[in-house]
Amino acid sequence: MWGMIATWRMAAEGITAGAELLAAGKNAGDAVETAIRAVEDFPYYRSVGYGGLPNEEMEVELDAAYMDGDTLSIGAVAAIRDFANPISIARRLSCEKVNNLLVAEGAEKFAQKEGFERKNMLTDRAKAHYRKRVKEMTARELKPYSGHDTVGMACLDQDGRMTAATSTSGLFMKKKGRVGDSPISGSGFYADSKRGAASATGLGEDLMKGCISYEIVRLMGEGMSPQDACETAVNRLEAELKERRGEAGDLSVVAMNNRGQWGAATNIEGFSVAVVTQSLEPTVYLVKRGKDGHCTCEEASAQWMEDYMRTRMAPVEE
Ligand code: ASP
Repeated sequence: MWGMIATWRMAAEGITAGAELLAAGKNAGDAVETAIRAVEDFPYYRSVGYGGLPNEEMEVELDAAYMDGDTLSIGAVAAIRDFANPISIARRLSCEKVNNLLVAEGAEKFAQKEGFERKNMLTDRAKAHYRKRVKEMTARELKPYSGHDTVGMACLDQDGRMTAATSTSGLFMKKKGRVGDSPISGSGFYADSKRGAASATGLGEDLMKGCISYEIVRLMGEGMSPQDACETAVNRLEAELKERRGEAGDLSVVAMNNRGQWGAATNIEGFSVAVVTQSLEPTVYLVKRGKDGHCTCEEASAQWMEDYMRTRMAPVEE
């Protein structure tokens, strides 16, 4: 069995490319890196890689991580600027014995030395979004923190090796130097080939409070299905946050176990996931949470898919 699950519709083309490698017997490391790179390179996805939305100072600072579930090796970069594919830098760092998580200038220096492709990641379109948001904020006091989405993936290859990976520009209008959950092991991602892999998206500050990806893998290790583990982790963390703090941010997760079974859960409207397995063509599902706290995954309609691309690619009206 092999398979991949990813957060958000934007990962559909990426997992399709990754699936070709998995079907051909390639490893989960190459598959997940290929899949995430496809999302990073697409300029119309405004929360990952090229075209990602900038921080308060109009700079695109990117976070990414990679984990190998066989060796438990982790590599990650945070607040890195001007490199085309943060995921590849993160994966490269996972091969080091120490210095596995590098931030800002340190990460850039490493990437430069290792010959990774430099690129100005701030597009004209992202600048237009920035100017629009600044205007909206003064006009309507919009909170700067709406507008995000991380691509996060869990992957299983034919040899039973699992990986997890993330890539994101983090929260739009974040403070310079702000780091979310995505490059933090156990929060934005976790992979253990003996159990499963998971990844998260949403408000990093809250996802980190529950180390949610590790928690999902832990629950799968205790025998829960990926779906039950995802729902349990989201519902418990949400309840704890509400009890202790009065509110909970967006929490959305995906997971796959080492048999290729998968699950997804969320506490918001509009969470989508992209899934492919040996027995399932690449498919986009919309995750809906019912009143009983259970989540169901409904295949996205052709109309939904069309509307999605149209809105992503529509001109930015300033
Ligand atoms: N979790 C990301 C962060 O806080 C953002 C997102 O997934 O939407 O940086």
